[in-house]
Amino acid sequence: MSNKNYAPLTEESAITLAKELAYFTAEEHVTCEEIGDGNLNLVFRIKGFERSIIIKQALPYAKVVGESWPLSLKRAEIESHALRIQGQYVPHLVPKVFHEDHDLAVTIMEDLSHLTIARKGLIDGEDYPLLSTHIGTFLAHTLFFTSDFGLHASKKRELDSQFCNPDLCDITEGLVFTDPFGPYETNNFEPALQEDVEQIWNNVSLKERVAQLKYSFLTHKEALLHGDLHTGSIFASETETKVIDPEFACFGPIGFDIGQFFANLLLQAISREEERQAVLFTHIETTWNVFSDTFSALWHQHSVDAYTTLDTWRIAVLANIFREAVGFAGCEIIRRTIGLAHVADLDGIEDETRRIHAKKQALKLGTALLLHDVNTVDAQFYDRIFKTIK
Ligand code: ADP
Ligand code: MG
Ligand code: MG
Ligand code: MG
Repeated sequence: MSNKNYAPLTEESAITLAKELAYFTAEEHVTCEEIGDGNLNLVFRIKGFERSIIIKQALPYAKVVGESWPLSLKRAEIESHALRIQGQYVPHLVPKVFHEDHDLAVTIMEDLSHLTIARKGLIDGEDYPLLSTHIGTFLAHTLFFTSDFGLHASKKRELDSQFCNPDLCDITEGLVFTDPFGPYETNNFEPALQEDVEQIWNNVSLKERVAQLKYSFLTHKEALLHGDLHTGSIFASETETKVIDPEFACFGPIGFDIGQFFANLLLQAISREEERQAVLFTHIETTWNVFSDTFSALWHQHSVDAYTTLDTWRIAVLANIFREAVGFAGCEIIRRTIGLAHVADLDGIEDETRRIHAKKQALKLGTALLLHDVNTVDAQFYDRIFKTIK
């Protein structure tokens, strides 16, 4: 490892670094607060007289159930590189990167503290009317322009080689695709769910579908993924949306990012009473509609592959993306319910009876998504899926 000057920053040394880099003058009174959750990375917010910045630093390990799991510091470089690429296509939807230091595994970026993390806002009852339009746009641009439809194959191969991210892909492969589907130690669920969990573990068709999806994630290097597009990686307000935290970025199947986003909206829907779910279903439909319309428009205007003149091919590509997105959403819902990393949407339901009921619904919905044979994006699809959780 080449990070010879690496040491984890403290609130004091973060200020020193920010001043050395001239974000603040030497005399300026600045405050610094570590605002990350501290499991994988440190996040410092440094505020001076006129401006504030964020310094995110990777730690060389992840704290997982009390133990340390070594993790390459290269993911800081992956994260800042991904932010810069996304910034070329959708500058209004990602934080600006000001500086990166690979030795220190540091990215210095725009402070987005005026926005709220979407998961938290949704839990608190916010609607974010533009969230799905913005995320559909983010997905279409970042995924189209890094795929063979929007980027010459030789350039795409070169880009792919810059996103070799084995440690973080290993986390996804284990925690999303393997462990929740068998009796692995990393799983974490209430005893009241035992029977529902065993039904999943004993369902051979479901496991075969998960195996296909895992194999697609491993082998199908379609486009540069964000890789961790849950609602905790999105800052939102009534008018703005910013996608953060692409440290899991790697080449993979386009449906993966879309499916993770769908799943986290569905997990939020499950946590709510029925009257307040519709807005989230609408967000899912809008995300897909904006994604597919924008992806199609980019295909017509900016495609680089000879076969993109065939419109039937575009339709087939989009149908496959949708089918995989639905399956990936199923994996994500199940792993967020019984795997290692849960979501506050469900775990935060204080009443135990309600919480267990919601988690059982989540497992039912995840199963339905994995077993659903979606050949086309027909209007009844949403109805049928959403009825599963009613
Ligand atoms: P991790 O990879 O450890 O999950 P994140 O990039 O998701 O780190 O950041 C963790 C938290 O730090 C976020 O939930 C948010 O509260 C805060 N944060 C991260 N980036 C910014 C930013 N650019 N502006 C303001 N706060 C941020
Ligand atoms: Mg602190
Ligand atoms: Mg994060
Ligand atoms: Mg992260």
